[in-house]
Amino acid sequence: MSLLELDAVEVEYTRRGRSSVRAVAGATLSLERGQVVGLVGESGCGKSTLARAAVGLVAPTGGAVRFDGETLTPLTRRARPRREAKLQLVFQDPYSSLNPRRRIGVQIADGLTILGLVASPAARDARVAELLSQVGMAADAADRFPHEFSGGQRQRIAIARALAAEPSAIVLDEPLSSLDASAQAQIANLLVGLARDLDIGMLLISHDLAIVRQVADVVSVMYLGVIVESGKTGEVWNQPLHPYSEALIGAVPKVDGTGTLPAALPGEVPDPANPPTGCRFHPRCPYAMDRCRVDEPPLVAVADERVSACWLNRPGAPIVPLTERSAPAAT
Ligand code: SF4
Repeated sequence: MSLLELDAVEVEYTRRGRSSVRAVAGATLSLERGQVVGLVGESGCGKSTLARAAVGLVAPTGGAVRFDGETLTPLTRRARPRREAKLQLVFQDPYSSLNPRRRIGVQIADGLTILGLVASPAARDARVAELLSQVGMAADAADRFPHEFSGGQRQRIAIARALAAEPSAIVLDEPLSSLDASAQAQIANLLVGLARDLDIGMLLISHDLAIVRQVADVVSVMYLGVIVESGKTGEVWNQPLHPYSEALIGAVPKVDGTGTLPAALPGEVPDPANPPTGCRFHPRCPYAMDRCRVDEPPLVAVADERVSACWLNRPGAPIVPLTERSAPAAT
């Protein structure tokens, strides 16, 4: 049993006077304690909606979210803080989640007080100092206001606030995208250290595959509401099985300034209100076959701890790297 399990989760919105949108159309992934799982995909693929479903902010319209063996259901106002404590969400913009008029020590202490985790003001202050230290900040930062910190420091403060609740898992929705490259690398390393040291599962949502490669044990690739590939990060990076994964990885610049693959991914993510028939990726896929335009490929295990949703990858069949496929295979 995994700490956090998303089992064929669907999230559908009804737009007033317009057709409904399945922002998440059956997404499956799992997260263990002490593990960092990266969820990657282009903007608009449903990552953030899935993050909100994972922490119970959005109710799935299909499938299930299980946390610590229990299916997440809407809770009463009284019960909600306890569950939310164990499953925290960190947002992209730390500034908008911090109150500009309150000292950050007070804001970090809120969770400690609400959850009854400290017995006295002295214990509260000591715990705030400890939390700041865990995210690499000095204790006297507690007396300052959010605007006195850089973007990277504010994200550290947001992480300290999440840690105050002693969570088992943290979902981080694009936590690095507003930071410069140096701050990104530092925060990414911080997250890995915290996951290992505190045995916390971290689901890191990002459009930046290079960052995810740096920190994640496992990567799941999402396209237009569905997971199309999952596996150990190094294996997916070195030998992507799904053409979309291959395109994403190929678009990551190498240190010499070139991409690993010459072809950029053509076109844009289709409208989720009107997804393509068959494989959702087929209009952009260089390997598309007739079957791909009709039948949607299921997400299936194709190797140990490796799943893919592509007709090119069939369970039990030998894995042929995409780069070695010269022409579309027979349908
Ligand atoms: Fe491409 Fe077909 Fe695989 Fe979809 S199922 S990714 S269209 S080869």
